[in-house]
Amino acid sequence: MFDSMKPKEFIGFSDFDAPDSNVVDTCIHCGLCLNECPTYRVLRVEMDSPRGRIQLINAVNKGHLSLNDESFQKHMFLCLDCHGCESACPSGVEYGSILEAARTQANQVGREPRGIKIANRIMKHLFGNPWLLRSTAKMLRAYQRSGFRDLILDMLPERLRLMEGLTPAISSYFIHPKTMSHVPALGKPQYTVGFLSGCIMSVAFTHVHEASLRVLARNGCEVHLPKDQICCGALNYHNGDRATARTWAKRNLVAFDDPKYDAIVVNSAGCGSTMKSWADLLQQDPEFSEVADRVSKKVYDFSEWLAHIGIQTPPNKIDARVAYQDACHLRHAQGITAQPRDLISRVSGTTVVDLDQPHLCCGSAGVYSAINTDLSLQILDEKLDSIESSHATHIITTNPGCQSHIAAGLNRRNQDVKIVHIAEFLDAAYEGSDI
Ligand code: SF4
Ligand code: SF4
Repeated sequence: MFDSMKPKEFIGFSDFDAPDSNVVDTCIHCGLCLNECPTYRVLRVEMDSPRGRIQLINAVNKGHLSLNDESFQKHMFLCLDCHGCESACPSGVEYGSILEAARTQANQVGREPRGIKIANRIMKHLFGNPWLLRSTAKMLRAYQRSGFRDLILDMLPERLRLMEGLTPAISSYFIHPKTMSHVPALGKPQYTVGFLSGCIMSVAFTHVHEASLRVLARNGCEVHLPKDQICCGALNYHNGDRATARTWAKRNLVAFDDPKYDAIVVNSAGCGSTMKSWADLLQQDPEFSEVADRVSKKVYDFSEWLAHIGIQTPPNKIDARVAYQDACHLRHAQGITAQPRDLISRVSGTTVVDLDQPHLCCGSAGVYSAINTDLSLQILDEKLDSIESSHATHIITTNPGCQSHIAAGLNRRNQDVKIVHIAEFLDAAYEGSDI
């Protein structure tokens, strides 16, 4: 079927970082994943379904389609990389691994969509340089708080206005591991953990970090923020820039490879899933494969770690009807669903309800919402409908991308629902503060 599309100049996958043809071959083309795929649900195009994308990868593998074919690139990068199809697949196709490999190869021939190329360059320079990240965040904060914002917004074209509305608010102060490197346990220390401060989290979700650190300390954890850590590289990795992801993984491995850590705790689902993949990412690296394997095994999501050690029951009541929003990189990529729900239900006064179709992505997906804004907002609409019909007073999530994307959507629709990170909710139940 792809012969007619055969380009004059054929480029196939190169050996290193190629999509594994054994994984491609496990797809039995049953189509059970189609209706679980957010892009297929909106676009109704086979090539924007998991099965279609696997067929495109297979076509390049077999030499029927060139890697630099524009439509190949388009469909690979229109995927959210949410891994929702993996949970739906009866054949166990590890779709995320072949998609991310295909994107890596697409980037290597330099024909990735322009938005991806620009985003990867910006992320490489900004997130790789904490000083530059903080300086840029300060400028953005000044803009967000200035009286010019409304004026500028009025002058922007519709699409840029939508994108601007999706940008998270920059925090009043930042979490910087060089100045805040240690938080003692409250009471007798029982565990010693390393903590990822990250990129966006450290400048726009400082309140979430502080809540996370307090909750960990309350539950007997002595928390360290290694000073030489850097962004985990999740956004680069998911967008096919494995070279940058590998470089930063190595820097972080040096920072976090400390035998005193019982765990490395991460409060962002996308970052945690990437850090758990470091062993795969560096398996062929003679110098780092062993340390990557050792450190990856110690990585825990915040909720996973608290459920693992068992938390003290929070003393304060919160009267709330809570819907837990599964982050894709927690539910599908890390297989974590019960732990956050169990933790939330430990707070007295709280009723936990499920959203309709809780497994569907909200459309945030890292930089996806900035590059494919219209589609991302169409995907978000279904999530907002399910939030409305749940009659929840609070939405709880475990990922900053979902938090700011859904918050922007709720705001646009004037839906009176609060969205908070699970750490903020538990922290309020411990501290007796408002949420
Ligand atoms: S990762 Fe998500 S968007 Fe991509 S094909 Fe699978 S279900 Fe669809
Ligand atoms: S559900 Fe799995 S086996 Fe079936 S088409 Fe989708 S990826 Fe292929």
